[in-house]
Amino acid sequence: MDSLLAKKSNKSTASPDRSRFGGMYLLGVVFCLLAAALVAVQHNVRYSLRDESLSLLPREELIRLKSEAPSNAQGIRCLLVTEDGDATSRKAKGVYMPVLEQMREAYDTCSVSDLRAETLGQYARIVLAVTHYAKLRETVADIRSWVRDGGSLMIAYPPEVSGNFETLYTTLGIIGSGEPALVEGIHFTRDFMIGAQARVYAIMDAYESSLSLSLTDDCAVYLESTGEYPIPLIWRRTVGRGTVVVDNFGIMEKAYRGIHCAAYSLLGDYCAYPVINGAAFFIDDFPSPVPEGDAAYITRDYNVSISDFYSRIWWNDIYRLGNARGIRFTGLVIEDYSDRVSGTFRRNAETGRFLYFGNLLLRSGGEIGIHGYNHMPLVLENFDYKDQYDSYVHWPSVSDMRRSLDEVFAFTHGLFPDESLQVYVPPSNVLSAEGRDLLGDTSVRSIAAVYFPVDMSYEQEFDVSAADGIINTPRITSGCVIDDYMKIAALSELNLHLVNTHFLHPDDVLDEDRGAALGWKTLFGNLERYMDWLYESYPAIRNLTGSELAAAVQRYDLLGVSRERSGDTIHLSLDRLTDEAWMLLRVNDGAQIGSVSGGSFRAVADGLYLIECRSDTVEIHLEQGVS
Ligand SMILES: [Zn+2]
Repeated sequence: MDSLLAKKSNKSTASPDRSRFGGMYLLGVVFCLLAAALVAVQHNVRYSLRDESLSLLPREELIRLKSEAPSNAQGIRCLLVTEDGDATSRKAKGVYMPVLEQMREAYDTCSVSDLRAETLGQYARIVLAVTHYAKLRETVADIRSWVRDGGSLMIAYPPEVSGNFETLYTTLGIIGSGEPALVEGIHFTRDFMIGAQARVYAIMDAYESSLSLSLTDDCAVYLESTGEYPIPLIWRRTVGRGTVVVDNFGIMEKAYRGIHCAAYSLLGDYCAYPVINGAAFFIDDFPSPVPEGDAAYITRDYNVSISDFYSRIWWNDIYRLGNARGIRFTGLVIEDYSDRVSGTFRRNAETGRFLYFGNLLLRSGGEIGIHGYNHMPLVLENFDYKDQYDSYVHWPSVSDMRRSLDEVFAFTHGLFPDESLQVYVPPSNVLSAEGRDLLGDTSVRSIAAVYFPVDMSYEQEFDVSAADGIINTPRITSGCVIDDYMKIAALSELNLHLVNTHFLHPDDVLDEDRGAALGWKTLFGNLERYMDWLYESYPAIRNLTGSELAAAVQRYDLLGVSRERSGDTIHLSLDRLTDEAWMLLRVNDGAQIGSVSGGSFRAVADGLYLIECRSDTVEIHLEQGVS
């Protein structure tokens, strides 16, 4: 039992004179029982808040399942055409290949120089990730007639303007083109993506990434640039029995994948792809000993100690923020802020702060995971910090790393015996292969490092590792200074994976590089606005703890999908469905969903639906012309 209950019990049973204070004694007992009941209820609340249905398969089972490809009854419908030796095409390939794979869209790749007219007919969709259309000289006329006959053509990025590209203008709906143009912001002309309601997003480090173009009136523009003379960035056009989509948003980076995914989903009459459907918030170094840092701004604004700031102000604000939105935080324990990497890893005897914050976190439905015995990343002498972390010390041996992990797991387990300690976040997002191997011998089921490649950080995708069955649940955004890059990355991931993962640093207020000088009130305001944006963009997103997110990623990653449309019914066949799956379905021909068998649905944007699949066969019945 926890310290709060013990305190209350002692207080209420400490009456010195039972005869004189009999009534008070009785009251005390009643109070004590009520307090115990309240705590018990809170503990129960904690368990009922956890979604027990989101269980994890054993790791051995995950390794086995990952070694087998899911069945793909549908066959390959899509061809990605790339240009060997061209840097832009190579970058586009680096975006479109993972996007298509993650959308479970089976595809072939073909070099533009190998593309033949007779190949076209084998595919329903062709994505041209080509810079020099002169290389399509022989096939361009065939591509045009393939579209008219029902093919779906996507221009993956703005190519070099040339006579050969211009021969496609009548198909693409382009009436005039100019120069490469700077796009400093995007503007949604319709709510076709989740988060589009916010209308405008700024592009950080903008460059001439798009072509200035004007279009025929029969093009449906979904995204354009901001500014006085908007440039169309994504449009769709019906041509004969086929469709074309032009993705003129030329930035090919991981942070913009969701925009390219959304453009791809406009091809053909519908597009369905699996998603995670979850939001998780991780709290760095929490609980931990009182963090060190520059207390100047806490003193300036609150005139309290660092320790009091966290218990009186910081947690109250974070709790209120989370509670209002149903968020259940996952805190990551640091046992000791030492730089010890060998010898004895002493047990931290100062457990008051750990119990206090840990229990508050658990009672609000949260989860406790592991960050480390201390904040030294699990790397050996062979790891090069490139002078970036002067204060970090390498571990001399694998056995020292192992003993430090044994200590922090035993320490945390002793304090929170009901917690299964399944989530690990690497300190400073640095993790070596040796460190990862060690985690395989612990209770860790999920590693939450980072989604974007930054310096030496441990970059991940949302997936299950085939090698060790550990589930990767990377964090996309972080902190309280949410810049334009983070905002658009969050938008992108809501649409590619329907996921939001954010990392909170309690010590932002102690670190000038993370905005401390702004003061907690301003930092907190930023965080509130970010959360407002998320929950207004998609109010029904599932709030998950770290382990629940891992379970959702497991279900998403294992899923195989086949789709087929006959008349007004879309049939989804799901391979390796354990209990639930979530799919985004875009309907492009103006139809709306009437009913779903084998699952349920909700509209999440214009023409975009979230389908909850509960059976391995799901049928979606569309209705035409319903407004
Ligand atoms: Zn940390």
